Amino acid sequence: MSSPEIAGLARENRMIVDAHCDTLSVIVDKGRLFHCETREGHLDLPRLLRGGVKVQFFAAFVHPQFRGGYLRRTLTLVDAFYRRVASPPGVAVILGNNDLEHVLDGGPDRLGALLAVEGGEALEGSIAVLRTLYRLGLRCLGLTWNGRNELADGVGEAGTGGGLTAFGRTVVAELNRLGILVDLAHISERGFWDVLEISAAPVIVSHANARSRCDHPRNLTDAQIRVLAARGGVIGITFVPGFVHAETPCLERVLDHIEHVVQLVGPDCVGLGSDFDGFPGRLPGLEHAGRLGNLAAGLEKRGFAEPEIDKILGGNLLRVLKQVLTQ
Ligand SMILES: [Zn+2]
Repeated sequence: MSSPEIAGLARENRMIVDAHCDTLSVIVDKGRLFHCETREGHLDLPRLLRGGVKVQFFAAFVHPQFRGGYLRRTLTLVDAFYRRVASPPGVAVILGNNDLEHVLDGGPDRLGALLAVEGGEALEGSIAVLRTLYRLGLRCLGLTWNGRNELADGVGEAGTGGGLTAFGRTVVAELNRLGILVDLAHISERGFWDVLEISAAPVIVSHANARSRCDHPRNLTDAQIRVLAARGGVIGITFVPGFVHAETPCLERVLDHIEHVVQLVGPDCVGLGSDFDGFPGRLPGLEHAGRLGNLAAGLEKRGFAEPEIDKILGGNLLRVLKQVLTQ
């Protein structure tokens, strides 16, 4: 076994929360297995447990190619979440704070699986659909992907200056009321400010990095990070190579993003949102979920204190989840 994984094993007691992966899509489209070690892509149950992950968000990503059938696609991914991800023994669906406590207090082999939707297209313009998805277990909604939908403009439409629509405002209010996390990854900057203005609950940006460390439109500016922190929100630092570094994306550059956010606003606003299985290739040092222990080791090496490391790897996202979940 390589030394990076030994570092991971030594830190098994850490509670890692990962706010984004695209594994549901590869389960449905490529027949990926979840409950056994596959060596494919980035993530399966054995690798999550080896990496110390306690809560994993699973995004039902509604790709634009499913126009005309967004809800059917969403429900297909939700079906995979229950049949393929949440079915092995030791995996519990996170619906409320009780489930969260149960997973955190349980044995070392327990994983909490949280159902997310990436792209408000899934609602097909209907609040009734949103309420029904909540009953199906939805606890985190990414308002947009890169394009425009009924809720808001995504980052790919930032040139229009468009933010939240009237329907988008209604959706945010209903998410707040129901106790569903608002996720602002992929939204246009105008949309980001609109939501921060009206959301009654703290929001997350599930998978993005710091623009001042890597100038990519999907990454947040320092001004955005400051307001996100002031409102009690969390940015999930992501491993998508193009968002990490233009030339040499790797573990050390991921640590740079974490360090930047902590220097900017303190240790309470940073979390993780790997985007595992959502990008091709592998990031050196964080090749798959089994290597997540390298993050703790890297933060230790950079002089972060234990309580800070615990917040960054999971504590901050757990804080927001506990605030938002109503059950
Ligand atoms: Zn994404």
